[in-house]
Amino acid sequence: MKTSKFLGLSALTLSVLMFTNCQTEDEPLATEVNPEAFTSEASAEVYPLTGNEKKITKMFFGEETEFDQVNDNLILGDMILSPEQVDESNNLAKGVIRKNRHWPKSGSYYYIPYTVDSNLPNKGRVTSAINHWQSKTKIRFIKRTNQRAYIRFRSGSGCSSSVGRTGSRQNITLASGCSTGNTIHEIGHAIGMYHEQQHPKRDSYVTVNFNNIKSGKSSNFKKRSSSSVRTSTFDIGSIMMYGSYFFSKNGKPTIVRKNGSTFNVQRSKLSSRDLSVIKRYYK
Ligand SMILES: [Zn+2]
Repeated sequence: MKTSKFLGLSALTLSVLMFTNCQTEDEPLATEVNPEAFTSEASAEVYPLTGNEKKITKMFFGEETEFDQVNDNLILGDMILSPEQVDESNNLAKGVIRKNRHWPKSGSYYYIPYTVDSNLPNKGRVTSAINHWQSKTKIRFIKRTNQRAYIRFRSGSGCSSSVGRTGSRQNITLASGCSTGNTIHEIGHAIGMYHEQQHPKRDSYVTVNFNNIKSGKSSNFKKRSSSSVRTSTFDIGSIMMYGSYFFSKNGKPTIVRKNGSTFNVQRSKLSSRDLSVIKRYYK
């Protein structure tokens, strides 16, 4: 009797343990609804790259930059670029967003047609991200009818986007773990924003520890040429800024403040500096 009771308890304990383990394994699903969830590099990479992609080195904003080539695209972190776009980055007199990569203005607003795939999980993050953009900027999202250029929100691995308006269908891909904040970030790319840690003035504010960066990923931390930006200020709180541990190969920080301290990645909202940058292009 005693033994069977013990066994019964053991079985209960075991099932509780198993249940606990399952919970742990299921944790990424829970991150869907947590806007702060993506503090790791998981959101920084476009696809789970196999590592066997063709590496292409090109000048990008005046810096030698290594890209992964996937189909006809050049991939840098979560950004999808065309070879022409990379080439033209070196000739920019001013501004990271070229006029021809702007979304068109009509009346007081800039309009972005979009679609959402029916099988995209948690479509609420797209709605919330769109609402955030619309409440803070002159950009408006409209359901696509027959426009040639539009954003398609779709499910897939990682969080990723093209940079600027490509002129045809362009994807924002959202894995189940990509939060509303990640979606706001990817829309930032789609309207033409690049990463803040590549700002030419960043070395006055942060230190990049190249020794801690995974091999093949240091191009994500190269500075853009100073002619590429109109804002002379760097913003560690930008929604386009990497976190301290992005692409770390050893668990040590890849970016720290000048005093050596680490910082949390901000994926909640467009910062006031982000908004002033956007205003220069989408007034
Ligand atoms: Zn990004």
